[in-house]
Amino acid sequence: MQKLTENIQMIRTDERTCSNIYLLDNGKGEKLIIDSGDGGVQELDSLTPTYTFLTHSHHDHSGGVKPDWQNVYLHERDFVKLLFRIVPKNARAYDFKNFKWGTFNLEIYWTPGHTEGSICILEKNNGLLFSGDTKFADGDRGRTDLPGGNEEKIIDSLKFIDKLDYKLLCPGHGPTEQK
Ligand SMILES: [Zn+2]
Repeated sequence: MQKLTENIQMIRTDERTCSNIYLLDNGKGEKLIIDSGDGGVQELDSLTPTYTFLTHSHHDHSGGVKPDWQNVYLHERDFVKLLFRIVPKNARAYDFKNFKWGTFNLEIYWTPGHTEGSICILEKNNGLLFSGDTKFADGDRGRTDLPGGNEEKIIDSLKFIDKLDYKLLCPGHGPTEQK
């Protein structure tokens, strides 16, 4: 567990097969998590998040969602039956673009390309951008060769991301990076 800000922590899995997990704490013991890993992350065994925001439905990001979790969100275009996907039964489509919770102010951006329903989440008060598998550190970006991927769309999404006002990139795999 790595502390990114006073109330935001990162579970870095160090494995290509499992996503990073970000935990936002509202100061009252409640957690909002961004991505859930592949289901093998022990830190989540004793945690029931109040909110779960998925960046997309690849199994290494969505496979850790447990059936009794509430308020699990996924972009409507990622409710698809394709290879490497897990759409949790309790997931519903984001029906908001902004989400204020505790001290956090989260903006949801649709950034297709890695998958059709990939999103990025900007936490405006701390300047953290949760970029899923769209953008990684060292100029790397998500692959588009899996079913549902689209090269032209990810290029547009990356241009959009570059214009966003953030300080720290928090990707779905690998290390964080200062902008
Ligand atoms: Zn992915």
